[in-house]
Amino acid sequence: MDKILLMLQLQNELNISTNGENWVKGVTKNGKTINWRRCIYMESAEMIDSFAWKHWKNIAAQPDWDNLQIEVVDVWHFIMSLAIEEYERAMMGTIEDLAINISQLPSFEQLSQSAGEFAPTTVVMEKVESVMLHVLERGNLKLDALIADFFDLVVMSGLDLESLYRLYVGKNILNQFRQDNGYKEGTYIKVWNGDEDNVVMKRIWDENADIKPDALYKELAKNYHALTK
Ligand code: MG
Ligand code: MG
Repeated sequence: MDKILLMLQLQNELNISTNGENWVKGVTKNGKTINWRRCIYMESAEMIDSFAWKHWKNIAAQPDWDNLQIEVVDVWHFIMSLAIEEYERAMMGTIEDLAINISQLPSFEQLSQSAGEFAPTTVVMEKVESVMLHVLERGNLKLDALIADFFDLVVMSGLDLESLYRLYVGKNILNQFRQDNGYKEGTYIKVWNGDEDNVVMKRIWDENADIKPDALYKELAKNYHALTK
């Protein structure tokens, strides 16, 4: 539950800094409409592209499980955002309430067992499509069912709560760091001494297993400013 709450809080902060305080009302500080459901199904299509699903092209290609896991984390950004927005819109409670409710879902329990094998690719793709169906359906969102299917997908992708948390926090902090250092303006440097920023981020994580999100941000800043000064 602590990890779920921390991820929801980080997502809320990232959305505030990227889109402004009113992001929960479905509009950015630049007046652009936010559509998290669309974000989810478009990003879910990227999950399918981790597999050689095309019957007419590269039919013998191996599944790219690393990429699948990254896309799972990308989709998690959007599912948490949609959940926070739903709670606000329908006055269902605070982010803390949402964290408690998520951790009480029956499908949450499977995340606390350590990650196991990857599921067969056809099963994973069907689960991705179940996630998509929830957000493509018009009308009332079945939020609990969406999250339950997503947690099944996490497990099928060889992840557990700990690895989902680590991948998510790493990507969230890096996204924030990029936004703070000229990503929108196009002045951000993505390759640091020959390594892409996400490789540097992952190395810091691997060398400091218990690092806190703000310390990770500071380490990134130290590396980046050594580069740019
Ligand atoms: Mg994308
Ligand atoms: Mg993606």
